[in-house]
Amino acid sequence: MTKFSPFDQSYWFASAPPPPETERLTGEKAVDVCVVGAGYTGLTTAIELRRKGVSVAVLEREEAGYGGSGRNAGHCSPTFSYYSLEKIRSLLGQPWAERLIRRQTRAADRAAEYIEHYGIECEWIQNGLVIGAMRPGHLPPLEHKTESYNAVGARTRMLDRDEATRITGSPRLLGGWLHEEGAHIHPLKYARGLAAAAIREGASLYTHSPAKRCERIGNKWKVVGEAGHVIADKVIFATGAYTVDGWPDLDKSYRIFPVYVCATNPLSDRARETVLPRNTTMIDGRGDFYCYKWTADNRIVASMFLMGPRGRDLAYSKKVMTDRLKWLHPQLTENVRWDYFWFGELDMQYRTVPRLYDLAPGVVGLTGLSGRGVPTGTMLGGILSDWAMGKPEQDLDLRVERLHRAPWWMDYGPSYKLREMRAVDNFMSKRGGVELPPHY
Ligand SMILES: Cc1cc2nc3c(=O)[nH]c(=O)nc-3n(C[C@H](O)[C@H](O)[C@H](O)COP(=O)(O)OP(=O)(O)OC[C@H]3O[C@@H](n4cnc5c(N)ncnc54)[C@H](O)[C@@H]3O)c2cc1C
Repeated sequence: MTKFSPFDQSYWFASAPPPPETERLTGEKAVDVCVVGAGYTGLTTAIELRRKGVSVAVLEREEAGYGGSGRNAGHCSPTFSYYSLEKIRSLLGQPWAERLIRRQTRAADRAAEYIEHYGIECEWIQNGLVIGAMRPGHLPPLEHKTESYNAVGARTRMLDRDEATRITGSPRLLGGWLHEEGAHIHPLKYARGLAAAAIREGASLYTHSPAKRCERIGNKWKVVGEAGHVIADKVIFATGAYTVDGWPDLDKSYRIFPVYVCATNPLSDRARETVLPRNTTMIDGRGDFYCYKWTADNRIVASMFLMGPRGRDLAYSKKVMTDRLKWLHPQLTENVRWDYFWFGELDMQYRTVPRLYDLAPGVVGLTGLSGRGVPTGTMLGGILSDWAMGKPEQDLDLRVERLHRAPWWMDYGPSYKLREMRAVDNFMSKRGGVELPPHY
């Protein structure tokens, strides 16, 4: 569980309307399905189940959006985090790969549907995602991405240097990849909006109500809380990187990978016109990448992974963020302050796609989103509700597996990979005479 995760230090927390009114779990409640965890995964599951007329109770140990769903960087990129579609196919095999690819690449539309249908005000902007190319070697993988994503129906294209510069405002790019369906949001407003939507659909959401354990009672399950319990036919653990208790060893099925996110002071309209003028989301494309986007009130929200003192030494971390931003956008001459700085944790597993675990008859757990959880968590409700409705396992869009621990090397794997990607990028840039950012 999290060592440093001050939820209430985030810009999202400071700028979101209050969560919907909820109660703590007391006494006994009987429902068809008990969902544990009120992030995107649990809340969309509750919504989907209610749409099918199933009674649902959601237990959340803190408040809706407390985990990754309320503190992420706000990019909704209907893609896979690290691997190409070919790699996903080789890792998952068929038909699982194609089914998941179909879900994931349409997940931004799913988010848009929820947002429109429930009138969720969450600063949803679907103006595209750009991944930059900063040296010639970055271009071929992006060309490959264009082909493979377009082949599954996504709307993506390569940008040449002029267009990449025009769309992003960064003169550093040699080109880039534009995914037209990429979007960005205020993640906590989205999470709280989904919570309100689940309640509106008739789900019971109990906050500050941790699920301590599950017990078999006849052919039902008793999900035991602190001051009450839920009796349910089926139980779904959607507790992600923030899993605490509930089911033995579910928190061992992934490894934590920390991320830090920060938000500037409100910048000038002039800055807004020249930095990401099309209001896309942006990943700069380096091995050790930098992601950023605008908020509605003219702040830039940026995120990076922790590495060395970065993420640990506050002053240094803020300097890295400013220097990278100004290096990407030399026209940004005004003072940039990072008014908000917060942390969060990813539930990494080696395939970097979610895993669905058969915990006991009628109980599943889902972890390992490994980032990209805005689209992924949004679309998972469809799969988990299919499971709860009794769809045969072989027809589900995720393979049901036995619970297993993440391998020991996952303690080091993601940070090793990040360092390797950074080293390769630095070496190739230097060899090609391409300027490196500060603190490379
Ligand atoms: C800093 C950061 C930046 C990120 N940036 C992005 C991004 O820009 N784009 C993107 O797509 N993804 C991003 N992600 C990933 C994304 O936020 C997550 O993958 C996604 O929100 C996970 O959703 P979830 O519903 O599965 O889990 P969570 O949102 O983590 O929800 C799980 C919930 O379960 C609750 N819980 C745990 N144990 C119990 C229990 N025993 N009883 C009751 N409740 C319990 C927790 O309190 C928590 O609220 C980021 C993540 C972080 C941390």
